[in-house]
Amino acid sequence: MAAVQRLFRAAASGGVAAASRRCMTSLAAEQAAPSAAAAGFPFGAEEKLRRRPAAERNVQWVFLGCPGVGKGTYASRLSRLLGVPHIATGDLVRDELASTGTLAKQLAEIVNQGKLVSDEIIFNLLSKRLKKGEDQGESGFILDGFPRTVKQAEILDGVTDIDMVVNLKLREDVLVEKCLGRRICGQCGKNFNLACIDVKGENGLPAIYMAPLLPPNNCMSKLTTRADDTEEVVRNRLKIYNDMSQPVEDFYRSQGKLLEFDLPGGIPESWPKLLHILNLEDQEELKLAAA
Ligand code: ADP
Repeated sequence: MAAVQRLFRAAASGGVAAASRRCMTSLAAEQAAPSAAAAGFPFGAEEKLRRRPAAERNVQWVFLGCPGVGKGTYASRLSRLLGVPHIATGDLVRDELASTGTLAKQLAEIVNQGKLVSDEIIFNLLSKRLKKGEDQGESGFILDGFPRTVKQAEILDGVTDIDMVVNLKLREDVLVEKCLGRRICGQCGKNFNLACIDVKGENGLPAIYMAPLLPPNNCMSKLTTRADDTEEVVRNRLKIYNDMSQPVEDFYRSQGKLLEFDLPGGIPESWPKLLHILNLEDQEELKLAAA
C-alpha cells in the first residue's frame, strides 16, 4: 500500500514506466516479504509469486465503456458467475461520499460536476478495497470504471497482469437516456432503470430496444437518483470519457487484450451474446443446473 503511494508520487513527477518497475519490486517485497523470506525464497522471487500465471488464479478482467453503457450490470453478473469480486471504483467513490469523512465534501464537488477524481484518491480507495479482499481470501477481480486514464492503465500494468478488457459500446443518444433513467432503491441498494429505449435504425445505426428495468412495488417509493445523473453532468462525463478514457481502449488494443462488444439490446439479448463471445455458455449452464 505504501509502495503504491510511493509509485504515485514517482509517477506524478514523470517516468511512469520506470517508476512502475521500481515500485513493483518494492511493493512485492513489502507485501510478500515475510512469507517469501520464511519460505527461503531468494530476493526478487516475490514478484513471480504475485504475478501468477493466469491458469493458476482467478480471472483479472477490466470492463471499459461510457457512462450508462451497463458496465456495472454485466460486470456484476459475470462476477457472480465466475466467483470473483466485482470492484467498481464509482461505488468506492460513492461509499466515501456517503461517509462523514473530510474527503466526502471534496469528492462531492468533483463527482457532481462529472469530473475525474485524482489518481491519488482513486488508488487509495482501490488499495484499501484490494487489501480488504485479500484479507478475506479473495482471488481475481473484475474491475469496472478503472482504469479511466492511460496513466492509471500504465500504473496498473506495473503492479499486476490484466488478462482481458471488455469494451462495452452503445450509441450516445441511448447512453444519455439510460443515465437519466437510472434509479437506486435507497433501502435495498438495487439498481433499476425507468427508461424505455426504443430507437429506430437510421444512418447505418441498428435499431435498438431496451425494456425498462422496473423496481418491485416495495422499492417504488424509495427510489433515488445519482446526483451526477443530470443531463448536463452526463454530457460532461461523456465528453471526459471521450477525451480521457478512450485512449485507454487504444492502450489495451495495442496489447491485444481488448474485446469489443456492441450491445445489441437489453439484458435478455445482450447477456447470452456476451457469454458466447467470452466462451462462458457452458459455465452458465453448469451453474443453472447446480442451482
Ligand atoms: P459512470 O456512470 O460515469 O461510469 P462511475 O460510477 O464509474 O460512473 O463513477 C462515478 C464517478 O466516480 C466518476 O464520474 C468520477 O468522478 C469518479 N471515478 C470513478 N472511477 C474513477 C477513476 N478510475 N478515476 C477517476 N475518477 C473516477
